[in-house]
Amino acid sequence: MAQNQIAQLISSQGPVSVERFMQMAVEAYYAQGTAFGRSGDFVTAPEISQVFGELIGGWCAVMWTGLGKPATFHLVELGPGRGTLMADLLRAAGHLPGFLQAARLHLVETSRRLRDRQGSALKNFEPSWHAHLDGVPDDAPLILVANEFLDALPIRQFVKQEDGWHERLVAGTPAGDLEFQTAMEPETAPPLAPHVLTAPTGSIAEACPQALKLVDRLGDRFNKNGGAALFIDYGPLESGPGDSLQAVKGHSFAKVLDEPGSTDLTAHVDFAALARRARKAKLKAWEAVPQGVWLQRLGILERTRQLAAQAKGKQRSLLVSGTRRLIDPQEMGTLFKVFALTPLACSIPPGFEVT
Ligand code: SAH
Repeated sequence: MAQNQIAQLISSQGPVSVERFMQMAVEAYYAQGTAFGRSGDFVTAPEISQVFGELIGGWCAVMWTGLGKPATFHLVELGPGRGTLMADLLRAAGHLPGFLQAARLHLVETSRRLRDRQGSALKNFEPSWHAHLDGVPDDAPLILVANEFLDALPIRQFVKQEDGWHERLVAGTPAGDLEFQTAMEPETAPPLAPHVLTAPTGSIAEACPQALKLVDRLGDRFNKNGGAALFIDYGPLESGPGDSLQAVKGHSFAKVLDEPGSTDLTAHVDFAALARRARKAKLKAWEAVPQGVWLQRLGILERTRQLAAQAKGKQRSLLVSGTRRLIDPQEMGTLFKVFALTPLACSIPPGFEVT
């Protein structure tokens, strides 16, 4: 759906929830497939340095070994973008004998254009594509990775008023623009943490039903066939009230309602809410670790030094500046977190700690 079609639809059919609005806008945005890189709207970690995907490949190799090196397992990426992370991951994990032979590669991607990009990046590996994790067969262990996927899942927003939490809506204005409104009636059971429910009047709070459902599905799968999931995304360590919905275009912030479908709409990931849901789904949630710390625990500095020693000139300085960008607390090192889910009985995954 093109940008003005979203505004037209809302104007003609009436207000929709923030969740529905975000779903439409994100789908329209990724359908164009032009989001990434210097000429696009944002740059993601795998596009900054090959080392990012390689270290995640090492993580997957360790998890596969911990599962007992099953002869077949499903290797899944959610939202693979240009396929860069998966290509780097497979190159690194492929050093472990048997890994590539055992891996069935599945890419969960809704954008047709991005599927084409992923197909060329991964042409030696015969991936299958799915619109949803449910399309991946449930008959073998699953190792799943997702970088900057959860932040694109649509969130519900709630506004605290005197009589409770009201769903936040997006409505058309007489001038043909969009504006926020709130539902007339309060929600009877808003899906918010107890300490968020008591936030003062005027607060905004968020929930991501699709991310919580994903945790449930992983619970079913891991408790049946075993597996591990790794999520890298941005958000705080603790749940709290706040409006994190943001739009980015051409590497700058834009207004959330101004150009739906042509800006990148995201929201912070509530890792603590995912961890609470994981406990209900009988999964172990490994406490989110800042990306900079996690990458250093996995040896990013050693790997960078090794590659830099073989590189020259510009390539060498790109490697060094890429690593700095990924781990520096002022850049991506602290805002981004790494979070893992496994069955309850699982030894400590690389980069995580017992809590
Ligand atoms: N992981 C990549 C891309 C991140 S951008 C990287 O790090 O570079 C988000 C990706 O998720 C895009 O590939 C987008 O098309 C995909 N995506 C967004 N919402 C999705 C959904 N609901 N289902 C499947 N894929 C989705």
